[in-house]
Amino acid sequence: MFKPDILNKFKNIPTPFYYYDVEVLKQTLDLLKKESDKYGYIVHYATKANSNNKILDIIRSYGLGADCVSGNEIKKAIECKFNPNHIVFAGVGKSDEEINIALDHSIFCFNCESLQEMEVINELAKAKGTTARIALRINPNVNANTHKYITTGLEENKFGINLWELDNVITTLKELKNLKLIGLHFHIGSQITDIGSFKTLCIRVNEIQSWFVSHKITIENINVGGGWGVDYHEPDKNRFLDFASYFKLYNDFLELRPGQKVHFELGRAVVAQCGTLISRVLYIKKGVNTNFAILDAGMTELMRPALYQAYHKIENLSKSDVGSPKSEVLKYDVVGPICESSDCFGKAVNLPETFRGDIIALRTAGAYGEVMSSAYNLRDRVKSFYSDDI
Ligand SMILES: *Cc1c(COP(=O)(O)O)cnc(C)c1O
Repeated sequence: MFKPDILNKFKNIPTPFYYYDVEVLKQTLDLLKKESDKYGYIVHYATKANSNNKILDIIRSYGLGADCVSGNEIKKAIECKFNPNHIVFAGVGKSDEEINIALDHSIFCFNCESLQEMEVINELAKAKGTTARIALRINPNVNANTHKYITTGLEENKFGINLWELDNVITTLKELKNLKLIGLHFHIGSQITDIGSFKTLCIRVNEIQSWFVSHKITIENINVGGGWGVDYHEPDKNRFLDFASYFKLYNDFLELRPGQKVHFELGRAVVAQCGTLISRVLYIKKGVNTNFAILDAGMTELMRPALYQAYHKIENLSKSDVGSPKSEVLKYDVVGPICESSDCFGKAVNLPETFRGDIIALRTAGAYGEVMSSAYNLRDRVKSFYSDDI
């Protein structure tokens, strides 16, 4: 993926840092736009995946909306010139302050996750003499077959309204005069690579829609959420997702009523492959059964491996002779400097013989990477660079 001259550029930048390939992001967005436009689908970018200004600006320039999960994300989206009418707001724990921010900006829709939340939004909207547009986030009880920490669409998860609560919700909604029900919302999890899970979702959405039709409730918008996964193992071979098949699946299986609009909320699928965490090897240390390559980046810069055993492809960029007969491949546990045993990017990773000072790339780190960085151990805030700036 990296052009040969990139190492010379990286060599002059203090590590660790995030590197974003703007071309990869734009090509991803070109594809996404082309395929979603075929069906008139509306895509909101899940800003929590990566909320760097430059990334948000580029995404907004392609006409995507913003899917926000906090008041600050709403503020950020507005700052980055997203149209408030293209902003949706999800989350199980919206504070009064955050709800007021959303009301003040008159965002497109609150995706509501509980009855009590609806009552609070109703009260706050009433106090402002306004009406809030809402969608019901329904828990469709679909298993996304992904890591348990990033599955959200099962009844045992904290997210959404369960099907057996719907009767009660609909009865109560009639009394909440400052809410306007405009849609149904679903989001079953993240890093879903089995596209069949989305087909199951479509079928479940059709059943749930029939319930609303039989209760004579018109729904203008169906929001099917996001969660589509990327290939962390082969980032070069599968740099771009098959957006054509993804959107076609919804067109094939989702039964729409006249005039209904379909919304998506993609995060990872948009930004994961454009980002790489660049680090240097600080030390090589012999272990009992392994070698340790100790990097200057750790879980404070990229938390996914420590948080949910996530895999990131690790490459030694200083070894341009990789694959040639003279390059010996050894196994390394690639770890960070943080005082936690979970601060490990990969065990028994095959790398060419690696030395202090070598530049290491942790691939596919554009989503849920920089946004989750922390100051634990009083670390400096990680910096970021863009391919068109260096
Ligand atoms: C996180 C989130 C998304 C985006 O998930 P990805 O896996 O990044 O596509 C979409 N909708 C909601 C409600 C979310 O919380």
